[in-house]
Formats: sequence, C-alpha cells, structure tokens
Amino acid sequence: MTKGNDFLSDFHWLMDVLQHIDVGLVILDSKFDIQLWNAFMQNHSSQAASDILGKNIFEAFPELPEPWFRRKAQTVFELQNQAFTTWEQRPYLFRFKNYRPITSLAEFMYQNSTIIPLKDTRGEVDHICLIVYDVTEVAVNRIQIQKANEKLRYLSRTDGLTGLLNRKTWESELDTEFERFKRNQHTASLIMFDIDHFKKINDNYGHPAGDEVIRQTAKVLLDNLRAIDIAGRYGGEEFAVILTDTNSEGALVVAERLRNAIGNHTVHYEDFVIDYTISIGISEIGSDINNKTNWIDCADKGLYQAKNNGRNNSVVYRES
Ligand code: GH3
Ligand code: MG
Ligand code: MG
Repeated sequence: MTKGNDFLSDFHWLMDVLQHIDVGLVILDSKFDIQLWNAFMQNHSSQAASDILGKNIFEAFPELPEPWFRRKAQTVFELQNQAFTTWEQRPYLFRFKNYRPITSLAEFMYQNSTIIPLKDTRGEVDHICLIVYDVTEVAVNRIQIQKANEKLRYLSRTDGLTGLLNRKTWESELDTEFERFKRNQHTASLIMFDIDHFKKINDNYGHPAGDEVIRQTAKVLLDNLRAIDIAGRYGGEEFAVILTDTNSEGALVVAERLRNAIGNHTVHYEDFVIDYTISIGISEIGSDINNKTNWIDCADKGLYQAKNNGRNNSVVYRES
C-alpha cells in the first residue's frame, strides 16, 4: 500500500486518516450495528465511539428514516453498488447542529451521503460504509439564491405600494383570460375602478395620506374578491379586476359590494379621518370584443359614465 512500510504501520496510518478526515464515516454490519464511528461523527453527534460501537444505529439515532435507509442499504448489500443521497432529496441523515459561522443561517448541517459496499475476503458484502459530507455551505448558498430569485420574481410582478399585480403582469393575465374565452367561450368580466376626487385627498391630507388610501383600497378590494379573481393596480389610483366565469350581472353584484365596502371604510392617517368613494366600470367579454385593449376600453367607458353620473356608482358598459 505505502512505500517501504510494513502492514501494521500502514494500518495505523489508515486508521488515523479515517479518524481525522473531515467527513463522517460509519461502518455498519448486516444488522445495522455500528462497527466504526470516526471523529467527525463523534464531534458532531456528541456521542463517543466507546459509547456507541456495537449499538444498533436506529436505536442510537431515532431520527434516521429507518424504512427508507433499510431499503437503500439493502440494494447496496444485494447489488454491491454504491447509493447516493443529496441534501436536496433529504436535507440530512443525522440531525447535527450547524456551527459554521458563515453559514449560521442554517440551524442544522446539510448533508450529502454515500453508502458503499465493503467486501470481505470471500468477496461477499456483509458490511456497508456510510459516508456523510457536510454540504451546509453549498446548500445555504443555493437556498439563498433561490430565495433571492423568488423575491425578484415577486417584485417584478407586483406593485410596491399595494402588493397587487402591477399593470404589466395584470395585462398579461388579461391576455390569458381573453385567449381562454376565444377557445372555450367561458365568460368573464372586467371591473375598472377609480377613486373619486383623489386629487383633493392628496391636496387636503398630503401625498403620504393619499398613498395610505391607495394601500387600504387594495386591502378592501382583496377582502371582497374570490381567490380566483385577478386584481391589479392599473395606474395611480385606478384598479382593475378580472372576474373569471362571471357575467355582467354577477360582476355588478361584486362591484356594488366593493363600492359599499369602500364607502363604509374610513382611513385613519395621523390625525386625519378620510372617507372616500369609488366609481366603477364593468364590461363582460363577448363576441363584440376583439382583443384585450378593446375589453379595457369598454370597462373604461363604463367608468367614464359612472364619473359623469356623479361618481360613487357602478356602470355596466354595453357596446350596443
Ligand atoms: P376623479 O373623481 O375624476 O377621478 O378625480 P381625481 O381627483 O381622482 O382625478 P384623477 O384621477 O385625474 O387624479 C388622480 C391623482 O392621483 C393625480 C395624481 O397626482 C395622484 N396619484 C397618482 N398616483 C399616486 C400615488 O401613487 N400616490 C398618491 N398619493 N397620489 C397619486
Ligand atoms: Mg380619481
Ligand atoms: Mg384616476
């Protein structure tokens, strides 16, 4: 094995290496009793080899997923192949605390593991070796990137003030709904609404108060919709909602409920008490609507009529 050394010193060196290598090594016999437990395993589990050797691994570590581990080990014993598990499949085998300062975000050690067959002199496998790698750093980095990507996706789709879909995303949802109508004629309605005399709110109470009114309007809106309705902030104090599978009569019911909810809602901002109303335009999709822009125009015309009617009302717009 090594140059010019006798078998015994080779063996001692090897044992030293196994003891101090920075991966976990565990040798198990066919009954899953522990035959070797290296320093890595001792340090992280706080279980000394002298206490644990000879014990059954499932009794010593009840957190180990026994049926899964047995199945995995069985294939190693029988097929004499290695078996791998990554932290993505299973974050850890042994729940060890994570002590690394850079990766202190993780409360436990992420692990990859390999099980290798150990052949005896007759070439039979009656022991297996479990190798445990600490991959916390890789895992934490990967998870942080994933989280950052999710956050970026969320930010690129939503409006910062209200958390509703932003105009671009909402319009692409409208495209999808329009295509759905063309394919299977499922009805849908569009609601556009605008806060009445909002300039006065800004003028009387200041822009931040106006912002708070917009934010709370979005909240009242969400409280009055079904989960499948798609709400967006269309512009400054203009909002838009796609009501799937809803005709104009149904949409008018939703609109009136919303209008009343806003009418009964009061925004308290600093010492100001702000009451306000909204005007609503509604358009049901139909054969007279050729594209998304056309559909928005119709709802917008309804909204314009509602403003002309004296505000604080809902109008269903029909082309004819
Ligand atoms: P109307 O009843 O006809 O809708 O009257 P209005 O005063 O609401 O008129 P308009 O819709 O033209 O005014 C919207 C105002 O909203 C103009 C703009 O300064 C203000 N605004 C737009 N975006 C924001 C915002 O994010 N925050 C605040 N505070 N104000 C905004
Ligand atoms: Mg307005
Ligand atoms: Mg407006």
